[in-house]
Amino acid sequence: MRPPEVDRVAASRAAVAARRARAAVKRAVNERRLSALSVLHTALASSESIEATMRVRDLLLSIPGLGPVRVDRVMTRLEIASTKRLSGLGVHQQLRLREFLEKRAPSVVDTGESRLVVLAGPTAVGKGTVSTYIRENYPEVLLSVSATTRAPRPGEVDGVSYYFVDDAEFDRMIEAGEFLEWAVVHNKSRYGTPRPPIDRALAEGRSVLLEIDLQGARQVREAMPEATLVFLLPPSWDELVRRLIGRGTETAEEQERRLTTARVELAAQDEFDHRVVNTDVEAAAAEVVELMRIQKANGLLGKE
Ligand code: 5GP
Repeated sequence: MRPPEVDRVAASRAAVAARRARAAVKRAVNERRLSALSVLHTALASSESIEATMRVRDLLLSIPGLGPVRVDRVMTRLEIASTKRLSGLGVHQQLRLREFLEKRAPSVVDTGESRLVVLAGPTAVGKGTVSTYIRENYPEVLLSVSATTRAPRPGEVDGVSYYFVDDAEFDRMIEAGEFLEWAVVHNKSRYGTPRPPIDRALAEGRSVLLEIDLQGARQVREAMPEATLVFLLPPSWDELVRRLIGRGTETAEEQERRLTTARVELAAQDEFDHRVVNTDVEAAAAEVVELMRIQKANGLLGKE
């Protein structure tokens, strides 16, 4: 049975008004005039509120620095279906969402910290060359120096290329909680990102670039969902093999091990927020830095 014409018109007007009101709330969150946490509080306090009718996904998407890929990951982790509205959350889902917003939102809302960029990609794709280019040409960007248990290669400088440490020192750093992330790479040596310099740089409003492997990128995503994950791709698989062999710094056995890792790593590219093809070092570096600039611009806009 169709409702009378006048009711349908009134209902559609009300729906349009509700959509507009929800859009205004989302805009306020996005422009940092309102915290996502307070939207949740309002929604839970009153099932009649406009906030109660918002989808959880839309609320998370309106938080500066959280894009669709990260939002979907967060929702999976919180075990909340993508169509769920704030009013429809179960008690445990409410708690998980509140905990997430309490932990994550303050850094996004208060400081606009979203300038951490992780550059990952398969072995020999040129991550090192691109990040060295950025360090030399974009001094405003802090390139994080990792600690590693592997031996220095010729020309590598302690404290610049890596902090070269022994197993005992690496163990101590883990124990002391000094790493943002760490991993065993190529089934061999341990590599880790020291956290204090990153926190300091972000607090000063600087951009930070981490050049790490896939396992490390995943850990950073968990610890700091506002980080931007960039995957560096070779122009082709053949080119990747050519670069690895051409580099001539690894034994045949080591090359084989690294190619195996590279195949696995290439398969993970969809987990990343952005993909950059490294055909030309200067252009790839500019593209990565541009991603930081976009983030910075967003951060500044949000503070106005
Ligand atoms: P290499 O031995 O060729 O310098 O680096 C081997 C791999 O370790 C590269 O894929 C590099 O991105 C990764 N790597 C370097 N530093 C770190 C780090 O701090 N953490 C993680 N997880 N990987 C790292």
